[in-house]
Amino acid sequence: MPLGLALLAMIGAFLHSPGRGWLVLIAVGFLAEVWPSFKHGEAYLRNRRAIVRWDGFWTTAFRPVARFLGMEETWVLSFCAWNNRRVQEVFETRRAKNALILLPHCIQMARCKADIFEDPKNCYECGLCPVGDTLEASLKNRWNVRISNRSHKAYRDAREFHPDLIVAVSCSDRLLKGLTKLAEVPCFVLPLQLPHGMCVDTTFSVPNLITAMDNLVEPRTTTPAKIQPLEGIA
Ligand code: SF4
Repeated sequence: MPLGLALLAMIGAFLHSPGRGWLVLIAVGFLAEVWPSFKHGEAYLRNRRAIVRWDGFWTTAFRPVARFLGMEETWVLSFCAWNNRRVQEVFETRRAKNALILLPHCIQMARCKADIFEDPKNCYECGLCPVGDTLEASLKNRWNVRISNRSHKAYRDAREFHPDLIVAVSCSDRLLKGLTKLAEVPCFVLPLQLPHGMCVDTTFSVPNLITAMDNLVEPRTTTPAKIQPLEGIA
């Protein structure tokens, strides 16, 4: 968006000579603002807080326009996709060692009585919601997972855990808020699917979560490496 505004200001400067100085200044201001968004790797990480807050600001500012055009979801998800691409670049050369997965409580089937808040292992893995498959994958890979029913609790859990990467699943609205609230931590986000509307029996792609964790996080061995017998020695 700032790039578009810079372009508009430049066109204005070209067409309107009396105000040329001010319009060029405005264009330079927009370009200076957008420049950090194109940083990669460690440079991106160092400036991430400011980058995400500015990108989030523009996304929020133009959200009503996107809503008016019937493209609100696409607009917010494009911000999430841009964020994910930057985070993937950071972890191309080194993997996260202390990743945290944040899941919303609404992925649990509404009529299920399993107390997964107390302990996710209370899930019976009946296969009727994504909790069972996530639990299986998290036990196998020793992932750190938190399930929250309130955004502020998820933020508090994340800050207490001090992760070097968050992988968060939520609806697009909460992803936008979460990314800007926890801008200091690299966060890879996966959108929820809402087949029954907001906050009820929601779902998401567990294979996509597994792929993200495989690509971004250093694997933890669940069993000690086997000592291979030496062959050919009498
Ligand atoms: S997988 Fe089944 S038992 Fe586990 S939380 Fe979902 S509905 Fe409940």
